[in-house]
Amino acid sequence: MKSLCVYCGSSFGHSPVHAAVARALAAELVGSGIALVYGGGDIGLMGVVADEVMRLGGEATGVIPKALMEKEVGHMGLTRLHIVKDMHERKAMMMELSDGFIALPGGLGTLEELFEVLTWAQLGYHAKPVGVLNAQGFFDGLIGFVSHQVSQGFVQQAHADLMLVETEPAGLLQRFREFYARGAVLPPKV
Ligand code: AMP
Repeated sequence: MKSLCVYCGSSFGHSPVHAAVARALAAELVGSGIALVYGGGDIGLMGVVADEVMRLGGEATGVIPKALMEKEVGHMGLTRLHIVKDMHERKAMMMELSDGFIALPGGLGTLEELFEVLTWAQLGYHAKPVGVLNAQGFFDGLIGFVSHQVSQGFVQQAHADLMLVETEPAGLLQRFREFYARGAVLPPKV
């Protein structure tokens, strides 16, 4: 794995634990020689992850729509910042540049990005690992709801299982390595 995409909040959240987890993930990426791909902003957890990667001497690539350069404060201290036309181009480029995807705590934008990349895996558009870093049980409700969807017959268990869940950055990266070691097995086409 050369680069991983991190989806996360443009806010910090109320607890300082979230920023600590973001920094821990950044350290794990840099320590593993993996470059960061993210939304390119300098606010909230997005800024925290990118700042930490850069501080530790890693590589960070941001992808930000022109219209969000001001609102999300395009990060000027990255290895590279791609300024793209719109949100669609941003998400497509982030997906293209990355060997896997990790969601940290965030808001609606983070969920949108996580579920887009999961549904694209479900449809077989890519065969890259997707995971959530469920530190302090932040994603418990979401994981429970996906289980509810499975039990109600709306999501296949194999597709729910595409969302890898770990509580520690090292554990999640290990799951990603195992995913590649097994060979990327595409889920059944729907
Ligand atoms: P949030 O989790 O809402 O704080 O947003 C985190 C990131 O997701 C920010 O960079 C947002 O610009 C981005 N985002 C918000 N809505 C969308 C969307 N529809 N598609 C892609 N990214 C989005």
